[in-house]
Amino acid sequence: MKVIVLGAGVVGVTTAYYLARAGHEAVVVDRRAGPALETSFANGGQISANHTTPWAAPGMPAKALRWLGKADAPLLFHPRFDPALFAWLARFLANCTTERMRTNTRKAMRLALYSRRELLALRAELGLEYDQVSRGILHIFRSPAEYERALPQVELMNRMGCFRHVIDVEACIAIEPALAAVQGDLVGGIYSPDDESGDAYKFTRALATLSTGLGASFRFETAVTAIRAEGDRIGRVETTGGPLAADAYVVAAGSYSPLLLRPLGIRLPVYPAKGYSVTIPLNGGGKVAPVVSLIDDEFKMVYSRLGERLRAAGTAEFAGYDDSVRERRARFLLAKALSLFPHCGDPDRAEFWAGLRPSTPDGAPVIGRTRYRNLFLNTGHGTLGWTMACGSGRFVADTVAGVEPELTFDDLTIDRFG
Ligand SMILES: Cc1cc2nc3c(=O)[nH]c(=O)nc-3n(C[C@H](O)[C@H](O)[C@H](O)COP(=O)(O)OP(=O)(O)OC[C@H]3O[C@@H](n4cnc5c(N)ncnc54)[C@H](O)[C@@H]3O)c2cc1C
Repeated sequence: MKVIVLGAGVVGVTTAYYLARAGHEAVVVDRRAGPALETSFANGGQISANHTTPWAAPGMPAKALRWLGKADAPLLFHPRFDPALFAWLARFLANCTTERMRTNTRKAMRLALYSRRELLALRAELGLEYDQVSRGILHIFRSPAEYERALPQVELMNRMGCFRHVIDVEACIAIEPALAAVQGDLVGGIYSPDDESGDAYKFTRALATLSTGLGASFRFETAVTAIRAEGDRIGRVETTGGPLAADAYVVAAGSYSPLLLRPLGIRLPVYPAKGYSVTIPLNGGGKVAPVVSLIDDEFKMVYSRLGERLRAAGTAEFAGYDDSVRERRARFLLAKALSLFPHCGDPDRAEFWAGLRPSTPDGAPVIGRTRYRNLFLNTGHGTLGWTMACGSGRFVADTVAGVEPELTFDDLTIDRFG
């Protein structure tokens, strides 16, 4: 079977890999010059299957109001007339109830746990190297009130199949000694020993090369301009390199997926939520930089050690499709990273980056079938695309090929949005 995959981010490439491994002809089309050059390029690096709590939560509307107008707030709205954003926000608010949050956490977590298993299997099978660190994720808290609020969620998620420990400050320092200098600021932590971190860009590039070895092909610097339907099927895609046809099509175009789908009458509630990262070369400061991946609750930032680099990432900005790096936001991340680990590396050589998280209102991706018989979606992974890529790639590849998937994710199709 010939399958065209639209998008060569971490999600598109894993889908193509599983298709090629099963003996199908996967053709990946991307407008960029290589794989993972958009949102999968410099993300936070966490494989955080035990941290799948969606942004849409009961306390979020009040928090968002408190952050309004603060330039350094973790969440920023740029006032603009954008009906897609208004519609997305209305759905987001509807998901901010306790009941919906539980359901949404369960849906996302199931896929994330499956995905981590698939990632481990791929790594063992293929010997992939991507600066991975398998030493868990430590979520640190400085505010007693926020810590108190987070604890019931730990119990709930452990009941759903997660594995998270509530630990005191001393245990936090034992797990990550680089935090010793700030231990007076901490009130406690939540540790998930099974989680991991690694460089999504390196992983995607390596997997793209292996996919090529299995017969997949990549058409880079080729933008898809339209998807053409013929009745209840897709007949071809129009690209800047001419029309392309296949037996099946997978849309994995990240934040741009809704723009490709709208002319087909498919309204995909995915909106870009811009985030930033800063990557600091350690320059011998490795001993005072963290190795265990961290979540700093106070500033909603994550840290991952990627070989001789420290990556810090965070913030969410609703600014449409503007992916430019704003100096002030980027420098804020650098300042916070240096306040935790002042001598970890060379800040003058830090690299700043911004990317658009393809976010859904319920925090879970949109994967699987559509009303067109040969059109499939693998998109909308928001804050967890790296975490969920292998699981959703495997599931979508199985679904396209008509193979019974190991797990089904019927609750993650586009049908849930009506
Ligand atoms: C600051 C930040 C930190 C993050 N941290 C983490 C983390 O720690 N852990 C985690 O799991 N996730 C994290 N994420 C989320 C994760 O990076 C994304 O969910 C993931 O990269 C999405 O992958 P994707 O393949 O769907 O999209 P992308 O990587 O954006 O790939 C989509 C591809 O489609 C192509 N494309 C789009 N439109 C067209 C077109 N018309 N024609 C041709 N090609 C097209 C693009 O060029 C691009 O290559 C973070 C994101 C950000 C921004």
